[in-house]
Amino acid sequence: MGLHLIVLGPPASGKGTQGRRLAQDLGLAYLSTGALLREAVENRTPAGVEAEPILARGGYVSDQLMASLMEPWLETNQAGWVLDGYPRTLAQDDFLQQWLVERDQRVDAAIALEVPKEVLVDRIRHRVECPDCRWSGQCVEVDGACRCPECGGLAKARKDDTLENFLSRFDEFSLHTQPVIERYAEQGDLVCCDATAPVDEVAAGLLQSLQSLSTDGQTA
Ligand code: AMP
Repeated sequence: MGLHLIVLGPPASGKGTQGRRLAQDLGLAYLSTGALLREAVENRTPAGVEAEPILARGGYVSDQLMASLMEPWLETNQAGWVLDGYPRTLAQDDFLQQWLVERDQRVDAAIALEVPKEVLVDRIRHRVECPDCRWSGQCVEVDGACRCPECGGLAKARKDDTLENFLSRFDEFSLHTQPVIERYAEQGDLVCCDATAPVDEVAAGLLQSLQSLSTDGQTA
């Protein structure tokens, strides 16, 4: 059975970048709940229709809606995963931990990406997402367009990456997700990381922390 990892952090802290890297390096499934919701909005599914106005104002969608999306995904990806953006509230964490306990499993580590607010604001200004493969990162312009480094698609700014929306999402994070981070710290399962360092450095540091986790059962 592979590891069960969650990546927590404020908007633009690099959850997607580091989450995908970890999943690739450790051979785990990867889920971005934000990307899942944006896709649902684009496809006009019932969940998407409910979520659209909430995403537009930078709020969190309800724990019930998230549970209805998570349950089928968890059922089909039991072998091990990296979750980017879930759980974001204590109630979501209760749901996840309960789901795992019922299967004799647990969250092996929660990774908290730490980035000062002013750096996040700067990142938000230049962040783009690929609508084809959902890669997200800083725009590197080639011939006036932001090309996705993964699939070559035309990456665009996310609708919700305005300063006003970022500030709402940051407040939601402080209010609802910070307590989840504190819970994992109390459980002794938190891996904290300075995510202002270059992407490769952060990724290497995380892998090292997780390696010691799998060899001695402790977080570094
Ligand atoms: P992200 O791509 O992780 O920045 O998520 C984008 C938006 O999706 C967030 O600002 C929330 O509105 C919504 N979202 C994603 N994951 C969750 C979650 N676990 N609980 C509530 N809302 C979520």
